[in-house]
Amino acid sequence: MKCPFCGATDTQVIDSRVNEEGDSIRRRRRCQACNKRFTTYEVVELRMPQLVKSNGSREEFSRDKLRVGFSRALHKRPVSAELVDEAIERVVQKLLSLGEKEIPARQVGELVMNELRKLDKVAYIRFASVYRSFQDVDDFRDAIKDLDK
Ligand SMILES: [Zn+2]
Repeated sequence: MKCPFCGATDTQVIDSRVNEEGDSIRRRRRCQACNKRFTTYEVVELRMPQLVKSNGSREEFSRDKLRVGFSRALHKRPVSAELVDEAIERVVQKLLSLGEKEIPARQVGELVMNELRKLDKVAYIRFASVYRSFQDVDDFRDAIKDLDK
């Protein structure tokens, strides 16, 4: 870490402290050249990846949109809001854990389908039919067959 006062590259860490939440580290440093002290912070960078749509355009990830997708598929289905929240959270965590700046939007769709398959089979078929825009009966049959896996 370069000294902000003299630009020397030789700086020494004299103290490190993790904050109460445990998500950042504060370091006191001393420049070996000019002896001045300064502080640096180390934080975890957790950002949702941008979604790349099939036409190449980018879109910010939106938890609201994700929720809309789930509720459309689950319309009038016997699935509690709590289970839906958990499913949404799993999708979000999964996306965060990829640590990518950009991912194909369809990858989110696949994650949603996975969750719906566990939650409610009707919702899964609903979502899959729109999302994969079934072209013919065979596509539909394949999706149904997936349910047995
Ligand atoms: Zn210095």
